[in-house]
Amino acid sequence: MSDRTPIIAGNWKMHRDHLEAIQLVQKLAYHLNEVDYEGQEVVVCPPFVALRSIQTLIQSDKLPIGLGAQNCHPEDEGAFTGEISVPMLARLDVSYVICGHSERRALFGETDADVAAKARAVQRHGLRPVLCVGEVKEEREAGRAVEVVVSQLRGSLDGLTIDDPDALVIAYEPVWAIGTGLTATPDDAQEMCATIRAELGERVGSQIAAAMRIQYGGSVKPGNIRQLMAQPDIDGALVGGASLSSEDFALIVGHRR
Ligand code: PEP
Repeated sequence: MSDRTPIIAGNWKMHRDHLEAIQLVQKLAYHLNEVDYEGQEVVVCPPFVALRSIQTLIQSDKLPIGLGAQNCHPEDEGAFTGEISVPMLARLDVSYVICGHSERRALFGETDADVAAKARAVQRHGLRPVLCVGEVKEEREAGRAVEVVVSQLRGSLDGLTIDDPDALVIAYEPVWAIGTGLTATPDDAQEMCATIRAELGERVGSQIAAAMRIQYGGSVKPGNIRQLMAQPDIDGALVGGASLSSEDFALIVGHRR
């Protein structure tokens, strides 16, 4: 077993208003036992409008749950109507910011350069990017998955300082597995996460890379989390759909029981 602290994060996407968000976290906390939090990080990434409510709930109930955001703007402030900056997130005790989720890349045209700029902004303010990479179905079928993921990784890490393994989390999310019910086999997920770690080693040195956390994401469910987490290079999960059910997310977090 590695000494990397696993991180299980729920990406709620554009689901739940702030009142529903409070209920979801309250129910999650109800389903989780103290031991479920031990030796791993549990993080929820609600929509922006629910961050303040959940921050307050976490503080008042002293919940050992971390807060993440799903996106940010690379600039600290300015005339960017509709955008949210990292300093604003920092004020809400947000610790993680998802950068370059495949939905942002595909639906909002984010390039590797955009993702890198956001991740640099996140780091500049002492928060941690959860940097997402992953190939689409056609790329995997064409045998190009590694090439695509390595290229995304290189581009998205441009200009980032990684002298602390905790400064960044990578999420390997094969796009064909996101929201589809299809999951990469534990072997395939492991293979890609090991490839990512080797590539990180080239970039930051093998010692730091060995201590960095790499999550798997893509239809993670209570039924497949154990096998995925048993892989030596998988240090957690980024969970979409199943994180919207307090019962399912609690079973995923509590997979060691
Ligand atoms: C995600 O959105 O990051 C994700 C992995 O979604 P799902 O778990 O629903 O596939």
